[in-house]
Amino acid sequence: MLDDLKDRVALVTGANRGIGRAIAIALGREGVRVGVNHRTTIEEADDVVRAIEAEGGKGLPVAADVTDPAAVERMVEEVEAELGPIDILVNNAGIAKPLPLEAVRLAAWDATMAVNLRGPFIVSSAVIPGMRRRHFGRLVFISSTAARVGGIVGPHYAASKAGLEGLARSYASALSREGITSNAIAPALITTEMLGGNPLATPERVPVGRFGSPEEVAALVVAVVKNPYVTGQTIQVNGGVYMT
Ligand code: NDP
Repeated sequence: MLDDLKDRVALVTGANRGIGRAIAIALGREGVRVGVNHRTTIEEADDVVRAIEAEGGKGLPVAADVTDPAAVERMVEEVEAELGPIDILVNNAGIAKPLPLEAVRLAAWDATMAVNLRGPFIVSSAVIPGMRRRHFGRLVFISSTAARVGGIVGPHYAASKAGLEGLARSYASALSREGITSNAIAPALITTEMLGGNPLATPERVPVGRFGSPEEVAALVVAVVKNPYVTGQTIQVNGGVYMT
């Protein structure tokens, strides 16, 4: 049976813009109270909260750099104090610096892993104990089609997302019996600032003939969060760029 999400509490990382913004608004529309994480841009997060509240929902802007464990602890405490225990975590925050293979040095590798892989581990570690106590949780990891095909950003990015999918599956195998599902959503070529920064991103690459929208990714997140029988999966939303 599909879950009614009304009055559940979600935390969406990197929710001030792009795909995270669309996910936060889509969850708010389902009656979820949403912690809207931003790193520095409170104005954008406030705007997302206004969009959620304009449709009758509830949102809370919460600052934290996902690579900073102390800041993440504070953020989780703030969401739980203001909105309630976190039922749904969407690890969306990510960076993607396009680099040719020969330009990928350790600094870019470490910076990418810190946000895209270490960050989701830090945030998940902060919320999973509460989910286990309550025997309910939904973990969602925003991966990328690049984890399967290599993609157009570089090996640092593809490897971070492949690692993320391993993390999602590990949580699924350890936690699904406890009522906690864990899944990855893997988009490609979605119109956000991230895409705008990559000259290799062209609609000709996409069999449907256009880029995707953040809302098309968000709709899939909502469907996965509602469905307790989907766990351990990576679900592609890529216009046919990669066919499983
Ligand atoms: P954007 O660049 O538009 O948004 C990225 C978000 O992540 C911003 O809110 C940004 O905050 C936040 N963020 C970055 N670093 C941190 C940090 N250390 N702590 C907290 N927040 C942080 O990208 P998208 O919306 O396109 O990307 C969202 C996710 O989707 C990413 O994980 C990305 O890898 C993935 N993805 C995107 C695709 C696309 O085509 N757009 C394709 C495949 C995957 P700030 O505003 O402060 O920088």
